[in-house]
Amino acid sequence: MRLHKAESAFFVFMALVFGAGVLLVFAYGMMRLNAPAFEPRELSDFTRLLLGTGILLTLAVLFGLFFIYPIIRTQVREEGKLRAMTESLSARSESLQHAALTDGLTGMQNRRFFDDALREYLREFGRIDKPVGLMVLDLDHFKDVNDTHGHDIGDEVLRQVSRTLKDMTRYHDVVARLGGEEFAIVAPNMNQDSLVKLAERIRKVISDLVVEAGSARLRVTTSVGLAVWNGKETADDFYRRADRMLYEAKRLGRNRVRA
Ligand code: GH3
Ligand code: MG
Ligand code: MG
Repeated sequence: MRLHKAESAFFVFMALVFGAGVLLVFAYGMMRLNAPAFEPRELSDFTRLLLGTGILLTLAVLFGLFFIYPIIRTQVREEGKLRAMTESLSARSESLQHAALTDGLTGMQNRRFFDDALREYLREFGRIDKPVGLMVLDLDHFKDVNDTHGHDIGDEVLRQVSRTLKDMTRYHDVVARLGGEEFAIVAPNMNQDSLVKLAERIRKVISDLVVEAGSARLRVTTSVGLAVWNGKETADDFYRRADRMLYEAKRLGRNRVRA
């Protein structure tokens, strides 16, 4: 069995406690040999002290073995599972299917990859009872960008937004362009609070982007809908819930996050 760093540290701790216990037992044995040199009262106090220390050390060992170690073990297993899933998803995107799963304009994962990944993440995270967050983003009034500055500049905006999303997310988050000017992020192991914070940071950074368009410099904003998986709904229902939040964000005036 290969040990994780936290597990090795735990065993070093246990070995030290155990070593201390053994030394204590030796000390006690030696003291018993010299017992005649001790006064009777002194001896009983000292014995009690040794006994107390021994009991505490034993409790520490039992607590470590039956409480701390199982927690470490579970965490290591979940971490391993997350890594394996991430690697299998990345390996898939690097395989022959690469072209079929990647968006040509931005190099991001496409809708097909997103649909598969969302289903897979829900299945796996449902099993270990961890949250999965979903963020759906749509650029505001993007048609105006094309109409005013031309389609090529529109494309450049999409590329820059994609790069921003990639930069601001973690390795195991799935970031995809669903089509047109709509993007989605699947963020496993994130609760509502952290998801809102991340979405707000992304919204702010996108609104600060400046894209050179000939002599003009243009800015875009984005609306964001969020949902955290309730553990029961299907991937489609989960996506629809986040999409409804996006619609709300648009309705309330755009350039905002709704959860
Ligand atoms: P809203 O704030 O309601 O989202 O308004 P919007 O203008 O962003 O939305 P609408 O759906 O009316 O327009 C989306 C535009 O996105 C229309 C289309 O020309 C543009 N678009 C879609 N795909 C691409 C693309 O690959 N490149 C470029 N440059 N534009 C695209
Ligand atoms: Mg739009
Ligand atoms: Mg749209």
